[in-house]
Amino acid sequence: MSDALILPGHEWPQMQPGWVWLCGAGPGDPGLLTLHALNALRQADVVIYDALVQDAILQWAPQAEHIYAGKRGGKPSAKQRDISLRLVDLARAGKRVLRLKGGDPFVFGRGGEEAQTLVQHGVPIRIIPGISAGIGGLAYAGIPVTHRDVNQSVTFVTGHDQTGEKPQSLDWHSISKASEVIVIYMGMKHIAQIAGDLIAAGRSVHEPVAVVTTATTPDQQVLETTLGQIEADIAAAGLEPPAIICVGRNVLMRQVLDWQGMAAGQPLRNVDPLGRGRPAESA
Ligand code: SAH
Repeated sequence: MSDALILPGHEWPQMQPGWVWLCGAGPGDPGLLTLHALNALRQADVVIYDALVQDAILQWAPQAEHIYAGKRGGKPSAKQRDISLRLVDLARAGKRVLRLKGGDPFVFGRGGEEAQTLVQHGVPIRIIPGISAGIGGLAYAGIPVTHRDVNQSVTFVTGHDQTGEKPQSLDWHSISKASEVIVIYMGMKHIAQIAGDLIAAGRSVHEPVAVVTTATTPDQQVLETTLGQIEADIAAAGLEPPAIICVGRNVLMRQVLDWQGMAAGQPLRNVDPLGRGRPAESA
């Protein structure tokens, strides 16, 4: 059996047989995993992982059986109910089960449903949050999800519901009015309609939008565009999901904060993207 993490100054929890730990793996970059996630990887007997979980992360659990439960990549899709019941069976068989999901398990990840099913079947759980793509993925593109000069609130929405359709229940008018910044998960399929709805709800065709695909991985791509141009620009760039789409003037901050560009040797740009005419740290 493998051991819990050894780092001084903290007692790391031991995984007990028959428990399921429901854990976020972050958006991609293995370095964005939490220490609790790493601690779980080192102890698990079984890791059930989703499509967006990187291989490098699974390599930290060489002792464990790895079971793919994702819905992408040409492999057959596992039904949510089957996944939940599989977790129950494994726990009842006395395994230490690590359920590893992309990003944060409770953000558009159906983690709540899985956790509820486990509890209903008498299986004890631990929840380990992760960095959600809608925050960490934007940060890797140099986009702060909130920025004092732009927004005091942010709305996270999903671009399609469980059936794959655009959610009917979303009130784009209210969202559009209430929130300067809108972060859209699973938005690629219906982006033309979503952009149209936002424009119809009063957002400008010139409003900045960023599309960040496979964020935080070596394949990350960032498209800076506008609501009016987004559909054409996504097609022209040939971008594919998974993508986080961010609508709002915070996107302009990338002109200064594109730290990956800096790492690749691009010169620092001391511009004033929000046009405030004063250094950011004053006032
Ligand atoms: N629980 C996850 C979200 C799961 S829904 C989280 O908290 O991040 C799946 C959607 O998340 C994708 O369709 C995409 O919109 C977004 N997503 C997840 N990982 C991503 C990544 N590395 N880059 C861009 N988008 C990502």
